[in-house]
Amino acid sequence: MDFSVARRRMVEEQLRARGVSDERVLEAMSKVPRHLFVEPGLQSHAYSDASLPIGDKQTISQPYMVAAMSAALELRGKERILEIGTGSGYQSAVLSVLANRVYSIERISSLAGRARRILDQLRMSNVNIKVGDGTIGWRDQAPFDGILVAAGAPEVPTEYLQQLEVGGKLVLPVGDRQQQILLRLTRLEDGSFKREQLMGCRFVPLIGEQGWQAELTG
Ligand code: SAM
Repeated sequence: MDFSVARRRMVEEQLRARGVSDERVLEAMSKVPRHLFVEPGLQSHAYSDASLPIGDKQTISQPYMVAAMSAALELRGKERILEIGTGSGYQSAVLSVLANRVYSIERISSLAGRARRILDQLRMSNVNIKVGDGTIGWRDQAPFDGILVAAGAPEVPTEYLQQLEVGGKLVLPVGDRQQQILLRLTRLEDGSFKREQLMGCRFVPLIGEQGWQAELTG
């Protein structure tokens, strides 16, 4: 299968045609090899218009959602970004191309380890990954120019607001466990936040101190 042809079609048909117009985002999405981030048996679906399972009941986000969230941060290349929910590492790779440095937190260590290996293979050394509860952010490295949360929160965790630079943007899904609204909050000079609703979405839950409780099983 020619992945570069599939990737170009993905950019034109799923992203540009749906209104993603930031050329830097489109360029990044046309370069990052999404097929390396999905399970080997699903590589032929890597450029389809869908989220896909990555194990541990988690998913790699739909390409359109990765593009739309990246575009919502309005990156120019010099930013330090906090990402919550590394998952497969695909969104981290796209941010690695678009920003100066990416700090990514994943609560499931096997996923974080796998993402690290793929990012190393691609020599994306500006991505730092740590295992832990991302609902409390990354205090040692704050403030950030952008925060992207790839899991659905019941409400906006206050730590994210505190860890955002003036002018910085927080993009995150907020709602119940089944569906959410993608919000963008921009920190203004007077310390208040401009709040925008971008679109409806469906993410796996953000689990942690300032998120949902893990579901009890067994
Ligand atoms: N954007 C990722 C990608 O491209 O593969 C997909 C992220 S997946 C939809 C959401 C991820 O958030 C899961 O890997 C999940 O384990 C993680 N997650 C959920 N709650 C978290 C938390 N409190 N801290 C860090 N990661 C969390």
